[in-house]
Order: sequence, then C-alpha cells, then structure tokens
Amino acid sequence: MPIHIPFDNTYARLPDRFYARVEPTRVAAPRLLRVNTVLAEQLGIEPNGLSGPEATEVFSGNTVPAGAEPIALAYAGHQFGGFSPQLGDGRAILLGEVVGRDGRRRDIQLKGSGPTPFSRRGDGRAALGPVLREYLVSEAMAALGIPTSRTLAAVATGETVIRETMLPGAVLTRVAASHIRVGTFQFFAARSDFEAVRTLADYVIARHYPDAAGAGNPYRALLDGVIARQADLLAQWVLVGFIHGVMNTDNTAISGETIDYGPCAFMDAYDPAAVFSSIDEGGRYAYANQPRIAHWNLARLAEALLPLLGDGQDAGLASAQEALAAFGPRFEAAYFGGLRRKVGLETEQEGDTALVQDLLTRMAENAADFTLTFRRLCAAAAGPDGDAAVRTLFADGGAYDGWAARWRTRLAVEPAPTPARAVAMRRVNPAVIPRNHLVEAALAAAVQDDLGPFETLLDATAQPFEERPGFEQYALPPAQVDPSYRTFCGT
Ligand code: AMP
Ligand code: MG
Repeated sequence: MPIHIPFDNTYARLPDRFYARVEPTRVAAPRLLRVNTVLAEQLGIEPNGLSGPEATEVFSGNTVPAGAEPIALAYAGHQFGGFSPQLGDGRAILLGEVVGRDGRRRDIQLKGSGPTPFSRRGDGRAALGPVLREYLVSEAMAALGIPTSRTLAAVATGETVIRETMLPGAVLTRVAASHIRVGTFQFFAARSDFEAVRTLADYVIARHYPDAAGAGNPYRALLDGVIARQADLLAQWVLVGFIHGVMNTDNTAISGETIDYGPCAFMDAYDPAAVFSSIDEGGRYAYANQPRIAHWNLARLAEALLPLLGDGQDAGLASAQEALAAFGPRFEAAYFGGLRRKVGLETEQEGDTALVQDLLTRMAENAADFTLTFRRLCAAAAGPDGDAAVRTLFADGGAYDGWAARWRTRLAVEPAPTPARAVAMRRVNPAVIPRNHLVEAALAAAVQDDLGPFETLLDATAQPFEERPGFEQYALPPAQVDPSYRTFCGT
C-alpha cells in the first residue's frame, strides 16, 4: 500500500544558497519501530499502509515519497558561546512540508538519514538510543502542552554507528512548525548577505508571524514575536523542571517550539544548578540559567536582523535593545503566573512571589522532588490531610510545615472553592514526566531489542495530568537519585 503524504513545499522555493539538495542514503535492513498514527492523522497522512513495508521504506529514507523535495538546510550557530559560521543539517534531511488538518504548515524531516554537504566530519547517522530519547521526550513535552517538535516515526537501520562504542543505528522522522533557527539568520548575516537575511525574515513573517506583516516595521515586530514566544517557552520549560541541555543558537527554533532534543532531562530533586549533559562542563545550560541563555540567544538574532531594524546602526541598535528588554518582564510574568497557579493561587496578591520563592528555596535545601511536590500539593490544597505525603518529600519535613502554614493563610483569602482549586492545580502540575531512570531503562532495553519498556513509558507519559491505575510507579522518583547521572548528545 503506497503511503501518501500531501506535500506542499515552500522552503525549497527559496534561493539555492538556503539549502543543498540531497537524497537520503539507503540503509541495509530497515525495521519500523513505531509510527505515531495519531500525529499522522493530524497531518492528513492516510493511516492505510502506515505500518507496512512502504512506511518502513519511507521513514528509513530508502524511498523518497512522491512530492518530497529533499534538502539539507544551511545554518550557523553559537555553540557554548563560540560562533561556527557553517553548521547546517549534517545528519538531517527535510523531505518537505504538509499543511495539517488544523491548517498549520509543518516540516517533515528525517534525522540520521546519511551525510549531506553540511556533515563536516560526521557520519550523518544517529544511534537508536538518542532517537528513542527524542521520541519519548518530544512526545511527553507535547502531552504536557509545551510547544515542541513531534516525532512521527522511528526506524532501526540494521546498521551500526560508531561513537565511543558500536551502537545500533536509527532514523527519526521529526515534525516541526519549521526548522528555521536563530542560526539560520546568523548564517547569512555572518556572510553579510543581507538580501538573504531579508528574504528569510519575509518568509518567516509569512509562515510564523503573519501579524507582523502589518506593523510599522515588520522586522521589529518579527523580533518582538520571537522574543515573546521564547520567553513563554522558557517559562513552560522551567515550570516542569525541563533542562534542554544544549541551548545553542542553532538549536533555538524561530517558531517558538522546543527543538533538537539531545542531552535533555527532567530533574527529579529540585536543584536550580542541575546539569545533566556530559558536555556542559561549565554549567552554561544549567536549569536556572536557561532563561538568561535564551535572552543571550535572542540578542544574537537581533544582531543578525540589525540592518532591518532601523535606518543606520544607532537606530537599529536602539530598536534591538528595546525589543530585548521585553524578554525579562515577559518571562517573569509567565513564570511567576505559572508558579502561582501551581500552588493554587488564581488571584494575585502582594507577597505571592515571595511565598512561591520560599517554597522553592525550601525544596532546594531539602532535595524535594520537583514534580511530586507540586502534584501532592494538589491534595494538600484540599486540607491538611494531604500534608503528610508532601512533607515526606523534604529531607526535613519541618521545612514544609513552616511553608504550609503561610500557604494556608494565603489560600484562605482565595475566592475559588477548595474542590475547584484542587482540580485546577491538577491541570498544571503533572503526575508523570519521563523520568531519567525510566528513560534510561527503556533505552537500554530497546538496544537489546526489547521495545516493551519504551512503549509503556510512551503510554505513561501520554496523559501526564492523570493518575492512571497501573501506572503508579511511573509517577515516582527513583529509590535513589543518581548524583552522577549524565546524558549524552549521541552525535
Ligand atoms: P547538534 O549538536 O545535534 O545540535 O548538532 C550540531 C551540528 O552538528 C549540526 O550542524 C548537526 O547537523 C551536526 N551533526 C551532529 N551530529 C552529526 C553527525 N553524526 N553527522 C553529521 N553531522 C552531525
Ligand atoms: Mg542541533
């Protein structure tokens, strides 16, 4: 059964220097591991044939489906603060775009599909573990309601990739609003190709920020829009304890989605300094640094757009600075608003910020589990019967008691009735996140050809705000948090 993907490509209409035309490289013995049929349906891909041999051919890159125009995108980027003028899709190939049933345009991209002109010394391939990690975490983020790229399929290649050791290879099919990055603008700006910067900006406005087209300066409105979406996104990450791990400018999507899942992780115990990535030795991308880094990345975008922001250097700079100044307040409003909702406060009162900050300080001092503390507060909001379950999460339970007394005094002046409050809190405080020990166990089993734990974890994280019978252990932190836990890029 041929699989039909209703491609409607626009990026491939942009000038030649935006990409390289390149076909995926065939793999030896592809085996379809999983197709996201729900996502396929939303994209308007017929479900017939999605699990058959045709799908294996397409999602491995062995067959280029009708209507696809495979290209590797050019981009640059600041990696850990240092600028690389030439990165680009070294192991990813954009097949094309589809307009989904919701009317939204999305990219369909193969990741790990062989070398491209941007591969530098890389092999263009991906290992099974990182592919399935991206599958699990991107889908979990989507279920949490956080803007993110999605995963349409994963295929084992039947080939080996060489990293520190020999690993089974895989190809991921990624779906994203687009794969345009801060680094895409930097690529052209670094070459003083301002015509291309303008062409790209016009394209991005039409595709992602149509409201900006009518503004006095559409490019300034574009910058404002990207800054606002990044600020909101970063607040959402931080509010669920997510650590991206490699927030380089080439991994920052202009659309406002989370993209490029590498050494990412959710923290168990609350620790603002948490870092999991093996390559982030200086803690540049530590949990609590992330908003500051996003702001830094946006400053790099503003630099690339500078000639479009005003007449002359000074006017452009003033406009960029004004735009960037909006990031902090926007992030703080989203973050503190989110924290207030997490502890059940719908109205805003003086002292609320101090109250939630006090909770976080006590959680950090007592290594309290981030996700479970907030989840169990939902029950505690209904009455002190729920306190025992929260206080056991704190090394010193008294640290919770002291805070809970202040919290109850504050809750008493909230207008919402108690039962409604608990329901609202359960909608913003997930019970289930893809915890590191569960992700590692699922990936380790998958490498041994057992996809069971991967499938179950995918299921467990698909309804993160529900406490489902049979999934109790997925809500729990590991018996012993491993302080030396590290995640790897896998590139
Ligand atoms: P990442 O760290 O995955 O965001 O990738 C950074 C850059 O390295 C991008 O340009 C990637 O395309 C490239 N890259 C990463 N892994 C590989 C690989 N195995 N082969 C070729 N290029 C790669
Ligand atoms: Mg990347």
